[in-house]
Amino acid sequence: MTKKSKILLIYTGGTIGMVKDYESNALKVFNFEQIKEKIPELNLLDCIIYTVSFENPIDSSNMNPKYWVKIVNIIEKNYNKMDGFVVLTGTDTMSYTSSAISFMFENLNKPGIFTGSQLPIGDLRTDAKENLITAIQIAAIQENNLPKIGEVCLYFEYKLYRANRTTKISSEQFDAFNSPNFPPLGESGVHLNFNKSVLKKVVPNKKLIVRKKIEANVVILKLFPGINEQVVQSILEIPDLKGVILETYGAGNAPTSKWFINLLKKNIQKNIFIINVTQCVYGSVLSGLYETSNYLKKIGVIDGKDITTESALAKLKYLIGENIPVKEFKNTFETPLRGEMS
Ligand code: ASP
Repeated sequence: MTKKSKILLIYTGGTIGMVKDYESNALKVFNFEQIKEKIPELNLLDCIIYTVSFENPIDSSNMNPKYWVKIVNIIEKNYNKMDGFVVLTGTDTMSYTSSAISFMFENLNKPGIFTGSQLPIGDLRTDAKENLITAIQIAAIQENNLPKIGEVCLYFEYKLYRANRTTKISSEQFDAFNSPNFPPLGESGVHLNFNKSVLKKVVPNKKLIVRKKIEANVVILKLFPGINEQVVQSILEIPDLKGVILETYGAGNAPTSKWFINLLKKNIQKNIFIINVTQCVYGSVLSGLYETSNYLKKIGVIDGKDITTESALAKLKYLIGENIPVKEFKNTFETPLRGEMS
């Protein structure tokens, strides 16, 4: 007989943990320790649920790397005691946070499932219950005494995704996330179905490595028609800048103006890492397909392939924090580390 899974539910903030104050109509945070009273169905799940909450839960617009480390610390501290983790955050920056956590754990062999909701738990039409209950159920699944999932995922509106492949696509629909360049890992219907061919294999006995050095000085620079020298220069001249996610057009294309090329070149020579990521939701950078991307490759811009902007930002902050030597950096970035790129 398999033993009951122990799941740690970590509440960081966001709509999911809110209730409506019917007098003022405003949303307010409720005491998360009372979660089982709000959702008595949790008592029916075939696992043991423990809860921990940020003392001061945050709207995920206030999320930052210090909180990423806080989440990582909670998981690390409880890693051996628990069989799985469900992390509740606001949806607005959930793809950034969950991508970052995926890089901060190497050799993760237990599930870290992120979820949240579009409507608060106390709302009659809430999506919180389904998201939360199924996320916990998924985290609790064991096969041959091993967790079924051994990676950081995001569960939302009946779909389980690899977290570092996701992006938030809707501010209103319950179906708020998508994983444009990678199939869902699973789907919840009458049965919970998993796409075995894309799930990361759980390899027991590999020692968990936890990384907490996250570089602060990284920016996202989105190209737009008419972007001028002053704008690009002011960004690339930020003191102590270490890395740039350059959101280019289509298959990775950028203007060929001399001033633009020279600015990029100058900064690459100063060992600032520049990553080419497409603005398109679907598809990949195809460096060298057009002249407008070929030169980027030649001057040493790093190819982000089909990575999302959220994941690219997290990966860049993580890899710079790890002090990867300049010579190896391009190759390391262009290699999938946690299934974040094809
Ligand atoms: N503003 C909220 C947040 O991201 C929205 C949500 O939770 O869905 O924290």
